[in-house]
Amino acid sequence: MSPQHPDILIDRAYIGGQWRDSERRFKVTDPATGETLAEVPDLGAADARDAIAAADAAWPAWRKRAAKERAGLLRAWFDRVIEQREALAQLMTLEQGKPLAEARGEVTYGASFIEYYAEQAKRMAGETLPGHGADKRILVMREPIGVVAAITPWNFPLAMITRKCAPALAAGCPVVIKPAEATPLTALALAKLAEDVGLPPGVINVITAEKPAEIGEVLTTDPRVRKVSFTGSTPVGKRLLAQCADTVKKASMELGGNAPFVVFDDADLDAAVEGAIASKFRNAGQTCVCTNRFLVQDGVYDAFIAKFAARIEELQVGNGLEEGVTLGPLINAGALEKVEAHIHDAQSKGARLICGGNRHALGGTFFQPTLLADVTEDMQVAREETFGPLAPIFRFSDEAQAIEMANATEFGLAAYVYARDYRRIWHVMEELEYGMVAINEGLLSTELAPFGGIKESGLGREGSHHGLEEYTELKYVCLGGL
Ligand code: NAD
Repeated sequence: MSPQHPDILIDRAYIGGQWRDSERRFKVTDPATGETLAEVPDLGAADARDAIAAADAAWPAWRKRAAKERAGLLRAWFDRVIEQREALAQLMTLEQGKPLAEARGEVTYGASFIEYYAEQAKRMAGETLPGHGADKRILVMREPIGVVAAITPWNFPLAMITRKCAPALAAGCPVVIKPAEATPLTALALAKLAEDVGLPPGVINVITAEKPAEIGEVLTTDPRVRKVSFTGSTPVGKRLLAQCADTVKKASMELGGNAPFVVFDDADLDAAVEGAIASKFRNAGQTCVCTNRFLVQDGVYDAFIAKFAARIEELQVGNGLEEGVTLGPLINAGALEKVEAHIHDAQSKGARLICGGNRHALGGTFFQPTLLADVTEDMQVAREETFGPLAPIFRFSDEAQAIEMANATEFGLAAYVYARDYRRIWHVMEELEYGMVAINEGLLSTELAPFGGIKESGLGREGSHHGLEEYTELKYVCLGGL
């Protein structure tokens, strides 16, 4: 199936307003069929430096544009993305595998950041503070930080880019995007739509590469880059953060998670099951805020498992382009092997298989949605992010134990709680060591809220007015002799 928009499948990189080819190319494949969708340029260090130079050259004019003009261009980009929603969604399903309905949802969600920051561009206010002497005044200016490098993962090929680029552009910063090697096509399509509406050359650049380390080295060490915004795994994030140290770059890190989903005895079980399905099986479990551990209290343990299993059986595995499919393939063979390893480890240590547990009859990287009960803290899945369609259930008996289990991880991205007693909810919410807590809700991402983690889940926030601040510096001006 080909996307509707004739120009949306682009197989060249985008640097300084030019579509760049290269002799070395790499394949982008459809994880549902294994077919090659396109071959894109396999760029290296010199291209990365070109992209930084283009962004650096575009910076003075872009930052000096009236905020209202930047806002207008962002708004036009938003309108164009929404107009091309169907074509973008199809492209994303083709290269990433998620069901088309989810891909459409991601276009809407991703576009919402462009819309929001088009509005926020006009509200990037500084402040005046009381002076420290009768003849002095304190002025605090908020200024764009400079060239931004955005390195993004494959699980949300569109939204992870707009979440970074929209606030950067709104603040007055140009960006160099390094999309994941599995999903560069959505990134290139986004750049094309930005070009269509007149974003100036060099303000957005997209560089593609099969092996990211060489480009990553340039983006994190070149002194012209003043901010690195990364979303991806914790090990890569740590490495990039270390590389940023020499030039003391500001960095945002949206890294891995190990989200607990706590179901108390007084929870509305039907609502909890719906939340569990959304938070676990969306994007085939390949979401950083996906539940990794279900912690269920004694009194509702068996009932929750029975209801959850019944809903899991309703999930339909298949090619994301097919009507009715709710669970697509995993991104690659490595992802499939990790899910299998977690299941085998847990079963070998006494976990009980309730449903699923195997590769799907469709073959390839399709896996059955899986439910394991009686999972314990000595199992691999208790500590590592599975990033696949495996729901492990742990048992707890009281609030203190639930909090201790929920916090027993070096990660701190998202946590979910289902309960009715408001005192319990308040107490648990305060005790959870997480950047985001969802109460009686399975989905929490929105452009209106600050998304991000604590501990080894990351640094910085994306979304809301806090997301804009990440791309700015404060300048204190002391006005004396008044
Ligand atoms: P990854 O870390 O392997 O790759 C992420 C990006 O970094 C890709 O573009 C990749 O090409 C690039 N990269 C890898 N090594 C690099 C290097 N040495 N230099 C420069 N760039 C390099 O992660 P992934 O497998 O694509 O994504 C899955 C991970 O992302 C999961 O751990 C997930 O939890 C996390 N994630 C986090 C968030 C969040 O907001 N916290 C959102 C989505 C995904």
